[in-house]
Amino acid sequence: MTSPASVRVVVFQHGLGALDYAVPAGLTLAPGDAVSVPLGPRVISGVVWDEGRLEGREVEAKRLRPVAGKLDIPPLSAPMRRLCEWVADYYLASLAGVIRMVWPSVAFLGEREIVEYRLGGQLPGRMTPARLQAVERLEGRQGIVRDLARMADVSEAVVRGLVTAGTLVAEVVGADGALAQPDAGFAPPVLEAAQAEVAGEMAAAVGAGGFAPYLLEGVTGSGKTEVYFEAVAAALEAGGQALVLVPEIALTAPWLARFAARFGCAPVSWHSDLKASERRAAWAAVADGRAKVVVGARSALFLPFKDLRVTIVDEAHETSFKQEEGVHYHARDVAVMRAREEDAVVILATATPAIETQVQAAKGTYRHLQLPARFGGAQMPDISAVDLRRYPPARGHWLSPPLAAAVTATLGRGEQALLFLNRRGYAPLTLCRHCGERIQCPNCTAWMVEHRLSKRLACHHCGHQTPVPPRCPECGEADSLVACGPGVERIAEEVGRVWPEARVAIVTSDTVNSPARAAELVRAVEAKEIDVLIGTQMVTKGYHFPELTLVGVVDADLGLSGGDLRAGERTFQQVAQVAGRAGRGAKPGKVLIQTHQPQARLMQALVAGDPAAFYEAETEARRDLGLPPFGRLAAIIVSSEDAAAALAAARAIGAAAPQMEGLSVLGPAAAPLAMLRGRHRQRLLVQARRSLALQRVLRDWLGAVAVPGNVRVVVDVDPYSFV
Ligand code: ADP
Ligand code: ZN
Repeated sequence: MTSPASVRVVVFQHGLGALDYAVPAGLTLAPGDAVSVPLGPRVISGVVWDEGRLEGREVEAKRLRPVAGKLDIPPLSAPMRRLCEWVADYYLASLAGVIRMVWPSVAFLGEREIVEYRLGGQLPGRMTPARLQAVERLEGRQGIVRDLARMADVSEAVVRGLVTAGTLVAEVVGADGALAQPDAGFAPPVLEAAQAEVAGEMAAAVGAGGFAPYLLEGVTGSGKTEVYFEAVAAALEAGGQALVLVPEIALTAPWLARFAARFGCAPVSWHSDLKASERRAAWAAVADGRAKVVVGARSALFLPFKDLRVTIVDEAHETSFKQEEGVHYHARDVAVMRAREEDAVVILATATPAIETQVQAAKGTYRHLQLPARFGGAQMPDISAVDLRRYPPARGHWLSPPLAAAVTATLGRGEQALLFLNRRGYAPLTLCRHCGERIQCPNCTAWMVEHRLSKRLACHHCGHQTPVPPRCPECGEADSLVACGPGVERIAEEVGRVWPEARVAIVTSDTVNSPARAAELVRAVEAKEIDVLIGTQMVTKGYHFPELTLVGVVDADLGLSGGDLRAGERTFQQVAQVAGRAGRGAKPGKVLIQTHQPQARLMQALVAGDPAAFYEAETEARRDLGLPPFGRLAAIIVSSEDAAAALAAARAIGAAAPQMEGLSVLGPAAAPLAMLRGRHRQRLLVQARRSLALQRVLRDWLGAVAVPGNVRVVVDVDPYSFV
């Protein structure tokens, strides 16, 4: 292949875009190749891009500097280059920033071997508190310097010091070992007729190849996992690869066990807690096709699959697929675009689709497959609402008499109950009885949440923590602070008082924060060592506990108070999902929903087991208001440590807003979370007609406003967060 005389290279340097370089004699370069190029006195990395697709400055050929060299990284395939372009364009991100997600730093660890370190040498001659902490915490651990610094919560310099001192010793790890291969024929299930029909259609599509998007909508307990495993099996039989995206990698333990039971071995996992050597090994195995099946969090979407045949987005309605930092993308939507570029199948699996997904399916853009009944003849649970105005809980209690009676009856039968409240900690607000002070985070416009188990106040936005103060920080009065409102710990306290013999487990991101903890929880519940589970939305996802027959929703109105566009939808999904944990085995399930508005449409739809009624009404409302997916939204968040600078920049952006038919701009206004991590925040919300080229409008508009260096402007296309 002949190489052109010059190439356009996307360089990994913020704000530079694409630059032209000469191709030195003897070097052959093609689009997608990783290269190193000179930039000023330095050499940086970049990727060769297709001719004519990116703007760049025209430079005279003889003035071009030459490419320094080609890097030993699998090239970025044409489908991935098109996907990167789409993501950068749609989410208003830099192309280099998007490519960085496909080529994370581990991709550049070109060596086939990595040097890790572990304890093994003598203690350092000079011991500092940080060194001591590292030595204590690194017992039994191994990793590269950056991994160890993270594990020990010390700086990388401290770790390097321990290497120099000989306390940490080197260990060479290979990155290209053989991987266990999942076997499509290992243990195929016997599918029920409805399952077989749906699985057969998806498997055939995977076998045939070509772009095919599916919505797999199946009620909770219908066996969606078993069914989409057949699409994975079809990809394996075709010699290709499969990707399963899951919302919460910490919760995958039961899923992994089912996968191994079906395919004979574990898949490759991809998530942020992997060590560098594990990331490097997984990345390389995906790129050269040794990794046949990958399960991962949303970032797995950007792995360089060699032959991706099917992507499954499990629990596709989950909002954790929306990335809220860096490139603000939605993994569900990017998964569909990737499948389109790769000519592959994509399956969005859920019991409670997003309105956006539902509308695509109704239009026929996605093929709609349904599993209307639970597997094995299990019945859907009996759902009723408890009107809190008629049956208020006793003073200092949060469980109403009907719910308490149901818990008593369930425990009496030796069965298990689950209480759902989407609030971590003991109480969301701590108030001074004497002066009325509400304890706030110093960095955020948010109340500090009491965590009684760890005896701390914590900010759920920035992570700031303090011990619970003995006296009011404002007026100094002793013993005047009172906890207001319930969190899961407070519900656990009430359960302990009312049913002292019941064995309780709290399930939140604080308590179930790793696959090992999730596996232990599953074991304990299955072994009936737990009588009452009390959890946040962590407990709504994926669990299958046959002896769990009662679900109580402590406060179904909680999610509705914020009033953002998806509040109703999110509440409906959460309650339907948690209700779906009840009665999944032979014994029937019962669900009680505590609410102040039992007459509300969404409560009525839940009680009647009639999701269509809710979806139809909600879809109509969105259509009337021109909200997504019928219109488009983008949020512009302007932030700075300097409040006046943020306000001035937001006003300048507001003043420059284009006047055009089909576009309206709300704000700027102080964000509900007016301060976050010490930054003052202003927001604008842009609403546009679907036919409007919103991205181009935004790019031209924001490109024309000069913003000072201490102000950050973030654009969030299709926003999910309105704080
Ligand atoms: P969903 O994800 O739709 O809520 P699951 O996939 O968790 O449902 O399935 C519910 C339960 O039924 C699981 O324990 C699963 O193993 C079992 N199951 C579903 N389909 C089959 C099948 N064809 N054969 C055996 N067990 C099945
Ligand atoms: Zn905070």
